[in-house]
Amino acid sequence: MEKLFLVHYGEVGLKGKNRSFFEKKLVQNIRLSLKGTGYAEVRRIYGRILVTLHPEADIVAIQERLGKVMGIAHFELASAAAQTIDAIQAAALELIRDREFKTLKVETKRANKRFPLTSPEISATVGAYLLKGTGTSADMHTPDLRCTIEIVEEAAYIYVDKIRGVGGLPVGTSGKGIVMLSGGIDSPVAAWRMMKRGVKVLFVHFYSYPYTDKASLEKVEELAEILAAWNYRTQVYLVPFAEVQREIVTQTPAPFRVILYRRMMIRIAQQIATAAKAECLVTGESLGQVASQTLGNLRVIEKVAELPILRPLIGDDKAEIMDLAQQIGTFEISTLPHDDCCSLFVPNHPATHASLEAVQKAEAALDINALVKLAVESVEKKIVDD
Ligand code: ATP
Ligand code: MG
Repeated sequence: MEKLFLVHYGEVGLKGKNRSFFEKKLVQNIRLSLKGTGYAEVRRIYGRILVTLHPEADIVAIQERLGKVMGIAHFELASAAAQTIDAIQAAALELIRDREFKTLKVETKRANKRFPLTSPEISATVGAYLLKGTGTSADMHTPDLRCTIEIVEEAAYIYVDKIRGVGGLPVGTSGKGIVMLSGGIDSPVAAWRMMKRGVKVLFVHFYSYPYTDKASLEKVEELAEILAAWNYRTQVYLVPFAEVQREIVTQTPAPFRVILYRRMMIRIAQQIATAAKAECLVTGESLGQVASQTLGNLRVIEKVAELPILRPLIGDDKAEIMDLAQQIGTFEISTLPHDDCCSLFVPNHPATHASLEAVQKAEAALDINALVKLAVESVEKKIVDD
């Protein structure tokens, strides 16, 4: 009996005219995810995607990787059979024979309307055959085992275990964004949330060497590598920020430092984004978490932005963010110690409600264009893959 994976997508199917674009991207991403697992082919059939397998395919690895492909609603390891009742019955019986169960329900989805029986007729016929063959009974409401038959195009697919996918939209279908990645807990989670909405993510990281050590550089590269399991091959832009910080510290009043760091980061990230054809900036900010993340300060910070700044964690609690970081697998690296460039030279009483005028006045002491230009020219670009 041929075994293969049947992949179902949820929201992707709802995209009208764009449907084919979404499906093609999903197929491409599945191929990237399954590299080296021994799959034979990934192809679209009516409303679904089939992953066929070589005999030596690593089923466990494929299962694990399909669980990380954004845009998949659920997937199943299925048996393929010819489109006759006899073949379907034989395949179904083989599939469930070794299972422990007392009650069973058979469900059918018939996409190929030329098949002579209706879905309820197929379920009833195959169901009766399976009950007889296994000595079990039917239960339409809370069966121990559900057996699903899908009649699609030229074949029938039969499965029992439905595996939940991650959902969302295929990475790359919503354009590109630059995530400001700090090395902390929040920003990798923010990146993941954007990937889940179909954004291909690039990363930018600011570091303050020689004021700080270089630990954060290794951390952000490792974080980007972990995230590449969903996001695939991408770039990390490493920006030396010490010179900018030195100017801010020596030329401007202490309470505004963090806000001024942030405004400079946005200006620099924006230039990198534009060159890379990214359409938004993404941060891990969450409302009220620290002084720079009050509504008033967010407003003052984003005044310098021309691209939208997206903050997918804005309404999340720290505990929720930490849970997700655990699930994604970034938590451990995020919590390793590193010197944070933004906690450098931070005053005891940072402004929580800075006025835009006061910040602009303080900033007038800086040669902004020259500092941005210097930083952009010193960027180092790293390629990461999973
Ligand atoms: P995180 O866990 O992401 O470090 P945080 O709670 O420490 O978040 P802040 O340090 O205030 O928050 O930073 C807020 C956001 O600004 C970060 O989520 C990140 O998007 C961005 N950011 C902060 N520092 C850097 C940095 N060195 N390089 C790039 N982006 C940064
Ligand atoms: Mg931080």
